[in-house]
Amino acid sequence: MGKQKKPPTPKKNCIFCGKTGVTKEHLWPDWLKNYIPIDSSSHTHTTQMSRLNYNTGMVRESPIIKIQSGNLMAQKLRIVCDICNNEWMSRLQESAKPLLIPFIKGEWLDLNLHERGIVSAWLTMYTMVYEFKHPPTIVASFEDRNLFRERVLPPYNWFFWIGLNDGLWDKAHHKGLGLVDQLSKEIPEKCNIQSTTIALNKLILHVVGGPRVVLIGSELERYNNSIKLQRFWPPINTGFWGTRIKTLDKPNHIFTPGDCAAVGHALESFFA
Ligand SMILES: [Zn+2]
Repeated sequence: MGKQKKPPTPKKNCIFCGKTGVTKEHLWPDWLKNYIPIDSSSHTHTTQMSRLNYNTGMVRESPIIKIQSGNLMAQKLRIVCDICNNEWMSRLQESAKPLLIPFIKGEWLDLNLHERGIVSAWLTMYTMVYEFKHPPTIVASFEDRNLFRERVLPPYNWFFWIGLNDGLWDKAHHKGLGLVDQLSKEIPEKCNIQSTTIALNKLILHVVGGPRVVLIGSELERYNNSIKLQRFWPPINTGFWGTRIKTLDKPNHIFTPGDCAAVGHALESFFA
């Protein structure tokens, strides 16, 4: 029998533009290394998937949990092409960097509308990449990612929060949930809402997003109160004409590892 030829590895497509020719890239940007203790043993990446009945909380499948410990900064993924990586993604990194660094160091800034958009877009980019660590938890579609690449603005129906962390540990947590459709009562095959929480030294960022509108009006306020973080996008208007945005006050509450874990699981508890 002749030597069998190994089938060629299928060419992977860029998750943002769809072109082939992806390169291996770090999940976390290089510049962060200067602000995060890289030898910390407390780094964990958690991804989790659950399916919940939006109305009753009765239908619930066992969650799949994937926890990865080790150096977060060393983790790589092959999902983005050279062009995306070196062009719009790199530009977004550069504009987010001076806004994120003070927060990472524990200095608190009151970001204006434009700056909040940049920080939210940065977290969107991170989340869309991070989802690929555990494909069953992917919520954003290719169309969502491609639109994000074109606009580099936080997607509609994604909500962002910010807070102060105690700085003793660094952590990332992604959760995908499959909420049961309110009308058809069907359990979805795919996750349709996600929450991602990252703690970078003194900064904690949290995002909830998905294709369906689930956090509106009083629900959004209820969720907001349950996580003890400040919402910074979409910004809350305070002015009569809606032109003034609520100031980002330095929070009195400093997050501990317990609080951060609770925020990571807040979405599931909220709908349970
Ligand atoms: Zn690309």
